[in-house]
Amino acid sequence: MKSRDRLRIAMQKSGRLTEPAQELLARCGLKFRQSRDKLFCFGEGEPVDLLLVRDDDIPGLIAEGVCDLGIVGRNVLREFQLSQPEPGEGLAELRSLGFGRCRLSIAVPHEDGYDGPAQLDGRAIATSYPGLLGEWLRSHGVAARVVYLAGSVEIAPRLGTADAICDLVSSGATLVANQLREAAVVIESEAVLAGRRDLPADERGEIAELLLRRLDGVIQVRDSRLILLQAPRNALDDITRLLPGMPVPTLTAVDGAPDQVVVQALCAGSVSWRQLEDMKRAGARDMLVLPVEKMLA
Ligand code: ATP
Ligand code: MG
Repeated sequence: MKSRDRLRIAMQKSGRLTEPAQELLARCGLKFRQSRDKLFCFGEGEPVDLLLVRDDDIPGLIAEGVCDLGIVGRNVLREFQLSQPEPGEGLAELRSLGFGRCRLSIAVPHEDGYDGPAQLDGRAIATSYPGLLGEWLRSHGVAARVVYLAGSVEIAPRLGTADAICDLVSSGATLVANQLREAAVVIESEAVLAGRRDLPADERGEIAELLLRRLDGVIQVRDSRLILLQAPRNALDDITRLLPGMPVPTLTAVDGAPDQVVVQALCAGSVSWRQLEDMKRAGARDMLVLPVEKMLA
């Protein structure tokens, strides 16, 4: 295969992961030339290009070396790994990305009820995830027949092709609409950054590492808030205890008011009105809560 000096990232062309994946890469400072209905987007600035494909193709493209990294659901990545002769080798989940959350669950007809895995013994279960379902069945000592369906899995029980299903669930509305109830969770999923276990040992590896560092910076601060406030020194302990995640604050003296300090702290998670009001009662004033865009330690 021809060697490449630019890093190539695969992501879903059109679907649930497309918009959040684009937004994440933009936050990492990557810009791509717009290409309508095209497979390939050339990266401007950093030597990183995008490949827009169906999500199912992403792990295979990385395994074959066509791409270096991919943004894909853990469900798709794990299913691919299980289809390989050595599931522990090859591809790895490099980062979890915090969007596209869902679970792969077994669901049974509503009227059947569910009293544990043994109930599935000898039953037929329809799924697009035979590897993950097979692994769950083995680990629970259940002998069920796995019926592979590429799509529309949720109607299999009504059509009589299966007794139960194993499919992705987020809100559960699709299950309810098909008179099914969620019985057991096979895996919790979210979008992940997938790559080969060993990053390429050339310029691409360096670009990949730079991207991973930027990703960490973005992920770390995505849900964080920077809080600024002024407080009497003697109220500091009480106020710090009220800060979400109890961060270690940075203190700055206030000119002409030796008993006052300005407190700056990076809080994990949002800061509620209730927390601000509690801090005000403890002596804080002039409180500002700011979203954080980037962080480089
Ligand atoms: P493609 O055309 O790329 O094959 P798709 O129909 O397979 O698209 P989507 O429905 O866009 O894929 O889902 C992509 C991923 O989004 C899933 O693999 C899963 O990780 C995640 N996801 C989050 N919530 C749900 C959900 N309720 N149903 C299905 N997938 C979900
Ligand atoms: Mg797909």
